[in-house]
Amino acid sequence: MKTFRCGDVVPGCTREFTAPDRQEILAQVAEHAREDHHVEVDAPLVQAVEANLRDA
Ligand SMILES: [Zn+2]
Repeated sequence: MKTFRCGDVVPGCTREFTAPDRQEILAQVAEHAREDHHVEVDAPLVQAVEANLRDA
C-alpha cells in the first residue's frame, strides 16, 4: 500500500490518501485537488505527489 499526505504539498491540508498503488493515489488526489483546492492535476503536481508517496 501507498500513502500520501496532501499537507506535504499543500501546507495546512490534513487530507491523507491510502491506496494499493500510485495510480489509485493519483486518481484520489486528482478528485480532492479539483474539489477542495480548485486545481487541475498537471505534471508538476503529479511529480510532487510521487516525490511524497510513502510505503504503508
Ligand atoms: Zn489537500
